[in-house]
Amino acid sequence: MSEPARTDLSPSDIARFGADPAATFAANLKAVQDRIAAACHRSGRSPGGVRLLPVTKTVPAHILRFAAAAGISDFAENKLQEAWGKHTELSGLDIRWSIIGHLQTNKVKHLVRFAAEFHALDSVRVASALNGRLAAEGRHLDVFIQVNTSGEASKYGLHPDELFGFIERLPDFPWLKPQGLMTLALFSADTGRVRACFHRLRALRDRAAAVHPGLTRLSMGMSGDFEDAIAEGADVVRVGQAIFGPRPVADSFYWPGLP
Ligand SMILES: *Cc1c(COP(=O)(O)O)cnc(C)c1O
Repeated sequence: MSEPARTDLSPSDIARFGADPAATFAANLKAVQDRIAAACHRSGRSPGGVRLLPVTKTVPAHILRFAAAAGISDFAENKLQEAWGKHTELSGLDIRWSIIGHLQTNKVKHLVRFAAEFHALDSVRVASALNGRLAAEGRHLDVFIQVNTSGEASKYGLHPDELFGFIERLPDFPWLKPQGLMTLALFSADTGRVRACFHRLRALRDRAAAVHPGLTRLSMGMSGDFEDAIAEGADVVRVGQAIFGPRPVADSFYWPGLP
């Protein structure tokens, strides 16, 4: 694919993404892949066993053309509306879209039209709405069940005590293809407490896989903690800032009051 023109970059694009975004993203991607491989090596795991899911939230669509030019073809977004807009604008590119943030039932219809996977399934209500739309479209969707392992009120996800009741309901939703569990760890410099969240998810996964054969994988770890997540058994790491640079505004899932 031909590279998008760098002359399309505004001064603020250049300030945030550099004058050669494709080269920057490719170098950052390589650095993250090397760190993943090193983390796998330290835990005696095969590097091929960990999937890197690039998180493109807040990166504008015209910049994502440079990401595609750098060889990135998996884009994950936490907000359905933003993802839908980018999907529409980038419809000429061959991208696999993932939704990784909380979904409102009134947006289910859009998700089903373009997303390949959903990492934030956290209620029977959303499962039922998704299943109904998927049945109407005649397609399946890969899903991860989000669990709140940090106990923070600001985070979405099922309480660990609710998880097994939820899993019992999964046969009611045959168009969902459960892949595993997902979590966001505590946002903290205290590595022990961060790792405890990942460890909790892994223990829940071990119990979940015993009752539901699809629930085998762990989606956990982001730019600040993916090496710890890999040490605790992550199968999918969702990494944004380490590839695309820091986001200008704080994430709403940490500071719910901010826009
Ligand atoms: C933003 C986000 C990430 C990635 O965070 P980075 O700090 O950019 O790596 C991972 N998971 C979810 C659910 C997110 O919203």
